[in-house]
Amino acid sequence: MSIKVSLVSKNYKDQKALNEVSFSADKGQIIGFLGPNGAGKSTMMKILTGFIKPNSGDVFVDEINVLLNPLKAQITIGYLPEHNPLYTDMYVKEYLQFRASIYKVDKQQIQTCIEKVGLTAEAHKKIHQLSKGYQQRVGLAAAILHNPSVLILDEPTTGLDPNQLVEIRELIKDLGKDKTVLFSTHIMQEVEAVCDRVIIIKKGELLVDKKLSELKENNQQTIIVTFDYKIEEQFINRLPNIVSYKNNYDNTWYITFESDKDMRPVIFDFAQENGLKILSLNTENKNLETLFREVTSA
Ligand code: ADP
Ligand code: MG
Repeated sequence: MSIKVSLVSKNYKDQKALNEVSFSADKGQIIGFLGPNGAGKSTMMKILTGFIKPNSGDVFVDEINVLLNPLKAQITIGYLPEHNPLYTDMYVKEYLQFRASIYKVDKQQIQTCIEKVGLTAEAHKKIHQLSKGYQQRVGLAAAILHNPSVLILDEPTTGLDPNQLVEIRELIKDLGKDKTVLFSTHIMQEVEAVCDRVIIIKKGELLVDKKLSELKENNQQTIIVTFDYKIEEQFINRLPNIVSYKNNYDNTWYITFESDKDMRPVIFDFAQENGLKILSLNTENKNLETLFREVTSA
């Protein structure tokens, strides 16, 4: 097990930032860590990397107890903090040499990392001369200098333009080939493009921890139907396989079913049997974006 978090709770004074969060990750997984602002993502990452202590719970990285041996754990962890703190007056190479000296990494390794993150052409520049995307590459290069087996990346793609986004995602994917990667993001498509697994937290509570393939396989479908006049809730409830429903406006209903067959014909028959006319009928494409909104709103 590369990462093992059990029942981690963290309070900032009387504010609860994490409440008994548990998850674990096998080697070589890329995990998307999602949640709205203030959910507790950065707090969890600072605890995982040994920079702050939880109030209770246990954290292991590569079988090392992070709370007891933070320095030892940091040897196996590469960490890109939120807002990527860099010394922007330094040259790229100079900065990486400085970071490498902390870990006693040899010069060849610096060059290898520069190449790995695609910085070769920019390595002679000062960091502040680089675009945000290239600055993120510097942060990533610094995080992998000591060849850690676990990478913790706190919103590595925030603030990037669409091209940079794609490039950094590709890079994360590439790094994930031989490392366990936990990265936080707000973008569900990003998770779809890069991750094997998704963890969603909200207000310090873990809400979802699933493989991407499991999320995609769910048998739920949401149908949006508008009838010609107002009907009562109990009426809708007579439909089979209903998971939930809501009536947003007018006579339009959002009905979620758990079924492996298309429920549209069932609704059609239901309307006909009950003397209703259907004015419109659509299936909502239940992508991960919708799931994320469902889980984290309310
Ligand atoms: P996220 O990274 O998901 O946006 P954070 O872990 O930064 O969430 O924050 C979780 C909660 O803890 C938020 O409500 C935030 O305001 C609070 N918080 C974070 N850091 C501190 C701190 N140093 N002192 C007090 N409250 C904090
Ligand atoms: Mg954060």
